[in-house]
Amino acid sequence: MKALKTLMIAAALIVMAASAASAGRTHEQILQDAQVEMERVCASLIPYMERPGNVTKLEVIDEDEINAFADNEGRVAVYMGMMNFFQSEDELAAVCGHELAHLSREHIKKSMKTGILATVVSAAVGGTAGDIVGNLIYTKDSRKHEREADRNGLYYAWQAGFDPYASVALWEGMSTLRDTMALEKYLSTHPVHEERIENFHVLLYRMCNDGVVTRYCEEITADPRLAQMYHEFESR
Ligand SMILES: [Zn+2]
Repeated sequence: MKALKTLMIAAALIVMAASAASAGRTHEQILQDAQVEMERVCASLIPYMERPGNVTKLEVIDEDEINAFADNEGRVAVYMGMMNFFQSEDELAAVCGHELAHLSREHIKKSMKTGILATVVSAAVGGTAGDIVGNLIYTKDSRKHEREADRNGLYYAWQAGFDPYASVALWEGMSTLRDTMALEKYLSTHPVHEERIENFHVLLYRMCNDGVVTRYCEEITADPRLAQMYHEFESR
């Protein structure tokens, strides 16, 4: 019952946010604003990439899906459904970072070589390889790529000045939607939210501990919950 109530509140908040944002503006204006915001946020992360030249296009796709992806031609795309889902610019930066990391680490090229991507595309509805939600066929390589994209993406967003806790907040937000239609396809095959949320907690602590980043670290290393998760993870 509590879960249902939480879901209804989440759904109501999304509807309210969408209608407040759209008051008096045309669909084209809303889409255009989203495109400008997405370009600005993603572009601010690009200087921290290992291979910034791999990015060719930043695009918001005018569809309700809650998803994002990077493709073989250097494009990062975020669906309008996901733009509406974000609670903050920091969450958008978290998604941009993840997709930019796939491009920087050339995961798509590597996946095509090993045949993972062919499986991914054929498994996705409509032929689009959505990434944040629903792309993963859990081979060893794709798991490795996802972890690497989460880690490097967090690094870019963190270095660009965005709040690193947004990755945790984003995935916690996604987990409240787990029973809705938008995620049904994904969750039938990927019970992964808890694991990913835990990984981000561990990453926050580890990146501070290793001296990779400094901003927010005083707060992060003083957080007993993060310290405990990190030490438990390390001792496995
Ligand atoms: Zn990914």
